[in-house]
Amino acid sequence: MPELPEVETTRRGIAPHITGQRITDVIVRNRDLRWKLTPKLEKTLTGQTFRHVGRRAKYLLLETDSGTLILHLGMSGSLRIIEAGDPAGRHDHVDLVFANGKALRFTDPRRFGSLHWTRRDPLRHRLLSELGVEPLGYELSGSYLYERSRGRRLAIKHFIMNSHIVVGIGNIYASEALYMAGINPRRAAGRIGRQKYDLLAEVIREVLNDSISAGGTTLRDFVNGEGKPGYFRQHLNVYGRTGEPCISCRVPIREIRQGQRSTFYCPKCQK
Ligand SMILES: [Zn+2]
Repeated sequence: MPELPEVETTRRGIAPHITGQRITDVIVRNRDLRWKLTPKLEKTLTGQTFRHVGRRAKYLLLETDSGTLILHLGMSGSLRIIEAGDPAGRHDHVDLVFANGKALRFTDPRRFGSLHWTRRDPLRHRLLSELGVEPLGYELSGSYLYERSRGRRLAIKHFIMNSHIVVGIGNIYASEALYMAGINPRRAAGRIGRQKYDLLAEVIREVLNDSISAGGTTLRDFVNGEGKPGYFRQHLNVYGRTGEPCISCRVPIREIRQGQRSTFYCPKCQK
């Protein structure tokens, strides 16, 4: 599944190719994505020019002068720049064709992705209005996590994966960040002190930024003819390393289940 670093890398990959480009045609081959595409999409977008490509959580915000196309990659979606008219495969559901002869192609085998058009402030759209803070900016601070967690008994791993608190921390990044901060993933969020939260906010930013940097080397893949933008896997300290020695203390990494998901941690380094 594309996680926040992949979405941010996608944003950086497509932005230079579509910013300032006028849409001359919209080809929809399948409207049945996670939500059915509005029948007005083609008419609405044709003739418009993308001015900016933003992101909120895992939503890409493709802005024009009169509104914003809110795009989510879902479980298996991807975007790439192609030559307009390149033959489409069965999972290539939407092409936005530009005046320069290129097109932005949305591919999504599992069709959990989505496209919504809004003329209003996209941040107030129902999909986005309830979201917590972005993890890459300084809104995510130790004091913010500390305040929001007071009195809460849920496990710290679930707390940082809750998108009403902070967005974009998937299962892999949650395990990695808690390892780097030395926090046991089962600890109650409300019982963790302010200093630990300062460290946690810092390492969350670090682990996500490292992943984005690793993805930076694949930016050219957004325009290759082969299709699949190269998603990336950074070096992982604990995730998927059950039974292997902790890189710091050599104690075997442990795997537990938390709410149907696997969590990986070092029983010695994480208290
Ligand atoms: Zn260890």
